[in-house]
Amino acid sequence: MKEAFRRIFGADPDGVWAAPGRVNLIGEHTDYNDGFALPIAIPHTTLLAVRRRRDGRLRLHSAQGDGPLIDLDVASLVPGVVTTWGAYPAGVVWALREAGHRIGGADLHVDSTVPTGAGLSSSAALECAVAFAYNDLFELGLSAPALALVAQRAENGFAGVPCGVMDQMASACCTAGTALHLDIRAAAHEHVPFAPEAQGLRLLVIDTRVKHDLGDGAYAALRAGCERAARRLGLAALRDLAPAELPRAGRMLPADLVPLVRHIVTENARVAEAVSHLRAGRIAALGPILTAGHASLRDDYRISCAESDLVVDTALDAGALGARMTGGGFGGSVIVLVEEDRADALAAAVTGAFRSAGYRAPHLFAVSPAPGARRIE
Ligand code: ADP
Ligand code: MG
Repeated sequence: MKEAFRRIFGADPDGVWAAPGRVNLIGEHTDYNDGFALPIAIPHTTLLAVRRRRDGRLRLHSAQGDGPLIDLDVASLVPGVVTTWGAYPAGVVWALREAGHRIGGADLHVDSTVPTGAGLSSSAALECAVAFAYNDLFELGLSAPALALVAQRAENGFAGVPCGVMDQMASACCTAGTALHLDIRAAAHEHVPFAPEAQGLRLLVIDTRVKHDLGDGAYAALRAGCERAARRLGLAALRDLAPAELPRAGRMLPADLVPLVRHIVTENARVAEAVSHLRAGRIAALGPILTAGHASLRDDYRISCAESDLVVDTALDAGALGARMTGGGFGGSVIVLVEEDRADALAAAVTGAFRSAGYRAPHLFAVSPAPGARRIE
């Protein structure tokens, strides 16, 4: 990172920061409903080398971004002026400035092993790396959760993506060997032990390598549907609806909102169930919860797709304990919990099923919970 930085900017960086991608074990689309989620950070990481500047310029370079150096003026950052990948890092600088922090310009070089657009949160990794670097270099004294909120503000307000805060909280706050139990309303998080290898298990990530275009508009529409349903029910958020109240709520809502509400309510319950199993050290018991979560996303929330369903069905046929799509939906990645001695055969079965269906070969890898964002140099 230092050498690349020197090549690009002709000087040494002040430091190097790292922020990971994530997979969410369970709790999908619950964050913007004030609910619960259970992500882990993955070893795939975004690295960022930074040098402060005194002239208010913000210069951005990425080993993954095509195109020349992006050169911006910190004082004139407003939403809409950056339409490329630079919106994510510039958005963080904008969000810090908006929040009244005294920050200036910098040279930034990014290099990442988090695949982009695969549902593994490369965007949050990028934002969190920048937020942590600025926090250190400009001595802002912000906590990891506060930096996650800055990162989310960048994505919502500057990059124009109406995401919840789960991705940024995962990248900012996770620790190695644990899953992050998030209570979004309470702005609380707790680390729950999660070490599948210690129990002879593997958590596989299978990147379908497809991203269906409907994703962008659909996310906003789903979010709006949830908010409409909460208003109709007289609730602050769907988090406030208990599973026992679902039948009554169903009678009060228009038919198209009922399955949305059912997904959110049952999904929050699945997070609670998963956390109690993990606390008791029963990782294998997560399997059926993952699979039930997938069915809910496929049938109620309707954000799965043929490729993700094929991975889940094939994995279960090959003996997986459980499997589900993870991330925003319409493609991206699937997670599979499997006993280690079945993992290779399962991987071969999924690859074979994709070949038979005429799909592009998926990317498969095992993950264990990695540390969150931090300074490394
Ligand atoms: P995900 O977060 O699931 O990977 P998103 O669509 O939210 O998918 O974010 C992907 C976008 O984030 C990319 O299209 C790019 O604009 C930006 N991005 C992420 N990582 C990098 C990187 N290393 N270099 C340049 N841009 C990146
Ligand atoms: Mg993202």
